[in-house]
Amino acid sequence: MKFTLKLEKFFILAIFVPLIYVGLNWYQSYQFKNNPISVDIQKRIDKAEVKVLNLIQEKFNTNLPISLVVSDEFHSNLYGLTSYKDNKITIYLNKKRFKESENYMIDEVIPHEYAHAMVFVLGKKTTEDGHTKLWQKICIELEGKQCIRYVDNEEIVRRKMSL
Ligand SMILES: [Zn+2]
Repeated sequence: MKFTLKLEKFFILAIFVPLIYVGLNWYQSYQFKNNPISVDIQKRIDKAEVKVLNLIQEKFNTNLPISLVVSDEFHSNLYGLTSYKDNKITIYLNKKRFKESENYMIDEVIPHEYAHAMVFVLGKKTTEDGHTKLWQKICIELEGKQCIRYVDNEEIVRRKMSL
């Protein structure tokens, strides 16, 4: 009798604990997806944006408007992309990626994308791959920590198109 009760308890736990776990995970994903980005993350983005814009001002003596948009409209796993359309430059950051890779987004992707934007600003856009030597040089100047010249398996690409 006691033993079966224990077993019952065990089965109840075995079923409900994973269910709660799955439920919580689902809820957190749902929350993340359906709410604006958290105040903390937004603050970090704003700070990184100010920092990179100051570096651009300092090193390139320009302060052209470059918009930064956190978007959940990405249909891919890209971290970010820089769009150049009708003479307007917009950097899109993939909101989904902030969930798993917040530091990477702040420390790497922001300088990475601003370097693409600066290549556009400097009028050096080419048809070849976006991660040119010039791009890398600018990325390093903007204090990107890696500034890897992705070629094949590129994690971050720049596209002259909308999302
Ligand atoms: Zn890139």
